[in-house]
Amino acid sequence: MHWIDRWCEHWLAWIFPERCVACERHGGSLCKACQQTLEDYDEPPPTLLAVQQATHVAYVYNHTMRQIVHRLKYRRERRVARLAGHLIAQRVPTCLTSASVFVPVPLHATRLASRGFNQAALLASALARLSRGQLLDKLVRQRDTPPQARLGIRERQANVADAFVWQGAPPPTHVILVDDVLTTGATMRACSDALQAAGARSITGLALARSRAPRQPPPHG
Ligand SMILES: [Zn+2]
Repeated sequence: MHWIDRWCEHWLAWIFPERCVACERHGGSLCKACQQTLEDYDEPPPTLLAVQQATHVAYVYNHTMRQIVHRLKYRRERRVARLAGHLIAQRVPTCLTSASVFVPVPLHATRLASRGFNQAALLASALARLSRGQLLDKLVRQRDTPPQARLGIRERQANVADAFVWQGAPPPTHVILVDDVLTTGATMRACSDALQAAGARSITGLALARSRAPRQPPPHG
């Protein structure tokens, strides 16, 4: 980096010191105090997907993680996606290689149009950049589904069954399916079915966070 760039960066950081994503106080993108409140998700991985596929959940959906997910979901901030990507990399480094292909869980076009972006795609893009892997945003939600939050597990499965389809050239043999929050896994299962139907043979689920049972009301499925 040229010294002028370094100088500008230094002064910009001094004039606009970065505030913590979770508590809004100064101290970096996630301050030390908030970092210490993060809890590793260490419950056995839920059996979610149709065939022999691993599912990784990085963190417990606790207060701090809720702030991070909220920022990721309702504001289009690349630094939050980058932070979330780094947090995942700390917990699940095996998923981040240059051979990794990340596929985000899609939003329906109507919801995408009203919100302007898909938080899972921001996260998948950050992971692809971090690992020098590939982002393939080709999974499409072909019908809109009612929000999952108030539904039970069977209703959720019925709600999202056949809601997704892969578009374009067949996916690679192995892909990593990315979502911000994992609840029952009904959405990931339906996405996984669509990926398999399109030709993927091995799918790894990867989520930033999941509530510990008993579940807090989740933001979506
Ligand atoms: Zn903080």
